[in-house]
Amino acid sequence: MIPFNKPTLTGEEAGFMRLACRSGKISGNGDFTQKCQGFFEERFGFRKCLLTSSCTDGLEMAALLCDIRPGDEVIMPSYTFVSTANAFVLRGAKIVFCDSRPDHPGMDEDSLESLITPKTKVIVPVHYAGVACDMDRIMRLAKKHGLFVVEDAAQAVDSLYVGAGGRPKPLGSIGHFAAFSFHETKNLISGEGGMLVINEKRHEKRAEIIWEKGTNRAQFYRGEVNKYGWVDVGSSFLPSEITAAFLWAQTRNLEKIQNRRLAIWHDYHKRLEPLFNDGLVRGPFIPDYATNNGHMFYLVCRSLSQRDGLIRHLRKNGIMAIFHYLPLHRSPYFRKQYAGGRLKYADLYSDRLVRLPFFHSLKPAEVKFICGKVREFFHGRNT
Ligand SMILES: *Cc1c(COP(=O)(O)O)cnc(C)c1O
Repeated sequence: MIPFNKPTLTGEEAGFMRLACRSGKISGNGDFTQKCQGFFEERFGFRKCLLTSSCTDGLEMAALLCDIRPGDEVIMPSYTFVSTANAFVLRGAKIVFCDSRPDHPGMDEDSLESLITPKTKVIVPVHYAGVACDMDRIMRLAKKHGLFVVEDAAQAVDSLYVGAGGRPKPLGSIGHFAAFSFHETKNLISGEGGMLVINEKRHEKRAEIIWEKGTNRAQFYRGEVNKYGWVDVGSSFLPSEITAAFLWAQTRNLEKIQNRRLAIWHDYHKRLEPLFNDGLVRGPFIPDYATNNGHMFYLVCRSLSQRDGLIRHLRKNGIMAIFHYLPLHRSPYFRKQYAGGRLKYADLYSDRLVRLPFFHSLKPAEVKFICGKVREFFHGRNT
């Protein structure tokens, strides 16, 4: 069986984890945590980074930092992971779902402004498949209405937005806050893991306090205050040094990991392009203003039954391909409280999108085999 995912291992993880064990400090915010945070700040120009135990944690911190109160409205795509919404629901927010774009599962920027009310506080663009949302448009709207922007950049490490003026900006550096994931299915991993990016100086201090259980311990260890205590709300969002050591090995190999993933992506694309050109199935779409970080390779079928047929055909041949999100506006939790309604494109991607196996150690022969089976399906009687 060719699985959908295998965790990326660079070979350096165990060595750094051993070093962390020997260092005498394996709780959070030690040397490896600092090194990882410094790496992301330098490499991508993020103002301040804090490692977290998950992207979910990063989003929960962002919701606290936006000071979400019961009744505040938060706009996000329905076609996303449940944590994007839960982080704000935990603070009492009302979620307002935005549809996906006709050409891409990302949020439909055209419909965004009509969803803004006097109660709106935050917009959460999700960079699906590591492909940028149109951030200039979103930031302009946010500025006009005085809203926060929290980028759900879980899938978007090492991806860029090229806005007007042409200067590429790394995803995660544009919103007020951004959250990344290092879950084992993402490009850089630490088993479970994540990171909050704080892009404005005015939020830095409070972010650190929320991160350290509502205390000013980080300032204490830097010698900025001579006692530490409970100064605000917070929780324990830090990962241990063992996790940070694992992540450090990955960051040192970012280039290698990314080159490999992009090679796999382009290999898929080259082999399946004839199907796209013949209109038999849709391939991934990358707008002019976005770059590709090789996170995912997906297809969009003509119907739910065709999509399920393709998944069955691949599974019969030992290939694990899987669909993705069940749109949140139709989830049992959301529908209990709000009218679910219809979001045409979120529903469409939920029915028709399928993701092909994609991981660092996927071999060229396996990509060739998978593409052969995909072509066989679309050229067979199943279409
Ligand atoms: C993976 C993912 C998350 C959650 O990441 P965790 O690190 O598992 O908490 C959130 N949002 C999106 C879009 C994701 O893909």
